[in-house]
Amino acid sequence: MRKFTSILMVLVLAMATVFANGAYQTESVITDYTSDASPKYVFMFIGDGMSSPQTNSAQVFNGINEPGLIELDELTFTQFPVVGLQYTQDSTSFCPDSASTATSLSSGYKTHSGVIGMGVDRMTPGVTIAEMLHDKGWKIGIVSTVTINHATPAAYYAHIASRNDYYDIGLQMADSGFEYFAGGSVNKANDGDKSIYEVLADKGYLVTNDRDTILSLNGESGKVYAYSPVLQDDGAMPYAIDASADSLKLKDFVKKGIDVLYNETGFFMMVESGKIDWAGHANDAVANIGDTLAFDEAIEVAVNFAKQHPTETLIVVTGDHETGGMTIGYAATGYNTAFDILKNQKCSYVKFDSLVAEAKADGEFTFDDMMAMVEEYFGLVAPGESAVDEALVLNDYEYAKLQKAYEDDKSGNVDGYEESLLYGGYSPISVTLTHIINNKAGIGWTSYAHTGLPVPVYAFGEGAELFVGAYDNTEVALKLMDLTNAR
Ligand SMILES: [Zn+2]
Repeated sequence: MRKFTSILMVLVLAMATVFANGAYQTESVITDYTSDASPKYVFMFIGDGMSSPQTNSAQVFNGINEPGLIELDELTFTQFPVVGLQYTQDSTSFCPDSASTATSLSSGYKTHSGVIGMGVDRMTPGVTIAEMLHDKGWKIGIVSTVTINHATPAAYYAHIASRNDYYDIGLQMADSGFEYFAGGSVNKANDGDKSIYEVLADKGYLVTNDRDTILSLNGESGKVYAYSPVLQDDGAMPYAIDASADSLKLKDFVKKGIDVLYNETGFFMMVESGKIDWAGHANDAVANIGDTLAFDEAIEVAVNFAKQHPTETLIVVTGDHETGGMTIGYAATGYNTAFDILKNQKCSYVKFDSLVAEAKADGEFTFDDMMAMVEEYFGLVAPGESAVDEALVLNDYEYAKLQKAYEDDKSGNVDGYEESLLYGGYSPISVTLTHIINNKAGIGWTSYAHTGLPVPVYAFGEGAELFVGAYDNTEVALKLMDLTNAR
């Protein structure tokens, strides 16, 4: 193993805030990482809303569920040699949001929920590692399955008091000069005088959602904004389980990113899987797992690159926070899991909602109409009926829940306290269905929001050793800055 030294010194007990050159920074609790490692190709993978329950559910899903043969199917990144743990609380809450946590991961200081790239005063901008490295001549890529002006990708190039100012964030994206943006589209691109796509084109970007053009991108393409030809909710890429076999995947956008960014000085690529989080909010384990597996495939692309550039590449994989309070284990299933039945769910809650909307548009949508769709897309059948798997027969309690969901959907009864607990603002029908099939499989959910669960950090390659241990999320950025001599 390559010789490596790491000196960790506890210098101060409390976070100290300093302002250097007008930029906001927080001094590290543990500082002076020293390492002879100097990666010049750095991949930062962020699974939004991804902590241990999400990664392990993906491993159980493709593992063996038979008693006596129980086995996980390990992901690529869970086999990385270095694992750490980061704490995710922000200045507002122990259940933080993506704006503040991504700011901590990109820039190394704490801020409030909803704030991107600014300090706790909501006014003073910081400097992100992507900006630091860009100034040093590295090429920068920002890739996400959700819109590129959404909180997590924005935290690498934008400085703004509210994550909801999508148009202004889009303008800052165009101003960043970063070489590669890819994945989802731009949210609210037309909310200003000029479309964000036009602004990008004016700044010299090739803006394209043409599959062939995207697949032919290379080192001569110049600055690029490449987004998926097929979009789903809010302009994001479709859930992996809803995507057609020939659609562009997250792994394709990472591969093209390498082709566009590769150069002798170095590149930094942030890749977010944003809909692990969205599926977590909606309590849809199958959509959640599908995107986690697609995320892992994208990480595999980076690992293959690292194998060709072994002393120059660092891959860090983490989440920004956990979403949904997901657990493997549920009150009604005790010590049992039956993840195999999840394979009967054929699409995400979003796709199912759109299918229900289509059915409603065709005329009266009866309970029996709904149950026919429930069987087709979830495999679940009414008590007493026969299913492809006995475990998919609804019991009376589950059936009554589905009857209530149908009635509440029809009458719009979704605002009461009980209904807010049952549906969390989602479609009563689809969220009840995902709850039922998840619970039958042995998966529980306790929230429709983010939780305070710490998040693992997986690292591979040059300088990976620095990521061992348990630390604050700000340390992720500070470690990367020190390894790349960014500041
Ligand atoms: Zn979220």
